Amino acid sequence: RNLTKRFPIEDSIFGKPVKFLKAVDDVSFEVDKGGVFSLVGESGSGKSTIARLICGAYQPSSGEILYKGNPIGRTKTDYRNIQMIFQDPDASLNPRKNVFSIIEEGLRIHRLGNLRERREKVLTILDSVGLDRSTIKKFPHELSGGQKQRVSVARSLILQPELLVLDEPTSALDVSVQAQMLNLLGDLQKEFLLTYVFITHDLKIVSQISDHVAVLYLGNIMEIGPVDRIIDNPLHPYTQGLLESVPQPDPSKKAANEILMGEIPSPVNPPKGCPFITRCPKAFEACAIKPELKVVGDRKVRCHLYDTGGNSNA
Ligand code: SF4
Ligand code: MG
Repeated sequence: RNLTKRFPIEDSIFGKPVKFLKAVDDVSFEVDKGGVFSLVGESGSGKSTIARLICGAYQPSSGEILYKGNPIGRTKTDYRNIQMIFQDPDASLNPRKNVFSIIEEGLRIHRLGNLRERREKVLTILDSVGLDRSTIKKFPHELSGGQKQRVSVARSLILQPELLVLDEPTSALDVSVQAQMLNLLGDLQKEFLLTYVFITHDLKIVSQISDHVAVLYLGNIMEIGPVDRIIDNPLHPYTQGLLESVPQPDPSKKAANEILMGEIPSPVNPPKGCPFITRCPKAFEACAIKPELKVVGDRKVRCHLYDTGGNSNA
């Protein structure tokens, strides 16, 4: 609720923070139990920062995170019930540990079960993530990228969490493996009644896996609502650009890719007015003032084109 995260930027001359980067700017959203909520945006949109805030790796500068109605971290089990899966399994798996000790670590830390019981649990979870039981003795370097990401998923599931925060879990994988991983994540979500916060830069993945989505740009939510409605009929010019920049197999549609032109501005010096103003093909005078996130029909949109609350023909 109203999450803001600022990072101090060291001044190179005086060595003390004189400027702040606002990575997340007054972001609010709700994740339904058993649902899949996606955060989508390009790099620098603040999506990974939000993930780290949810997991308690960062503290918010202002705003709060509620878990089952209470400020998160109030009960000891909150952070055990929330697990994170990272983009790059090579960076998140210890190369000196075998698969058994990587996966069982959570159980050991929380003193759950003796060695035999922990081994049994690890074998069962290997079945769930579609890895052969013989994988238990292997080391990360003996596994493929997809197998390594399955090990990270197994590790995150071993403590029977309720919420998984997945930060681009497929983007380091070969394209051929990405679809399998998405299917696995979808199956696990149903099997273990998990709730997902799914972070990606790819709207195509959003439409496959999630029910609700927030589109982020420079730390701001630009459009938020039900995925099928937003994909069918994106209202925000940025969402329209993201959707149209999904590679088109049909070359006659190529022109649409040109909508998202220009560089993302530096979050250190964000544009005045609408955050998207420097790249927006529909910018007009009113955009010099930052728009509020307003209800438009079945969703919320931050854009002056919808100031009247109705559907713009733009
Ligand atoms: Fe574009 Fe203006 Fe809407 Fe921002 S407020 S997205 S600049 S039309
Ligand atoms: Mg990121």
